[in-house]
Amino acid sequence: MNKYLEDLVKLSKFDTQISMFEPQIEREKAKLATFVETAEAIKQSINKTYAEIDDVKSKRTKNNIHLSELKNKLEDISKKHNLVQNEKEVKALQLEEEITKEQISFANEEIQRLDQITEVKEIELKESQEKLANEEAEIKDIQVAVDNQIEEINNQRNVVYHERSELLEKFDNKILTFYEKIKRWAKESAVVPVKKQSCYGCFMKINDKTYAEVIKSEEIINCPHCGRILYKEDETVEA
Ligand SMILES: [Zn+2]
Repeated sequence: MNKYLEDLVKLSKFDTQISMFEPQIEREKAKLATFVETAEAIKQSINKTYAEIDDVKSKRTKNNIHLSELKNKLEDISKKHNLVQNEKEVKALQLEEEITKEQISFANEEIQRLDQITEVKEIELKESQEKLANEEAEIKDIQVAVDNQIEEINNQRNVVYHERSELLEKFDNKILTFYEKIKRWAKESAVVPVKKQSCYGCFMKINDKTYAEVIKSEEIINCPHCGRILYKEDETVEA
């Protein structure tokens, strides 16, 4: 194979490898992100439950105040019993007393109901807090694994960068410029193999004459359709 073409194939393969490191790192980070999201959702539900408990407790306080007002009222009524003059006033007072007692029992029931709600919410809260603690422990483990994985990827990337720069040291400048021009629009597919007599970049069939030249590999051949640099894959199967 033409020496320049051989170098181009190598360079293109390095560039393809390099382009894959960043997505790999992103995938690792995404793994962690899903766990962090779950933890965030639990935190929000904990905050919501806290707010709900506060709300119930403030309702309970209001009921308690109301209850002590009603108790005072009941005391006043019983004091008035000695002052009433006639049957009509006695009945009116009795009615007021009954209504107040009903209100007291209603307020007591309401306090009981609110206490039950608080109890349920506090159990909920405890469960969420346990869930959060588990999630956070898991996040710690995953963080370590992800960090290790990213370090490994970065090491591999450094190796490829190093090999690439070694290759570039003795690279022909014109060929490099030519390659980079194509790479500007073709990205990682500036140099592509020919498979089944088709360009592996644009997937168009290549005419026999061009195909024969690609097989010969004596010159750098561009795809007549898209302009990418072509090579015959079989001859460059590498370890
Ligand atoms: Zn093509």
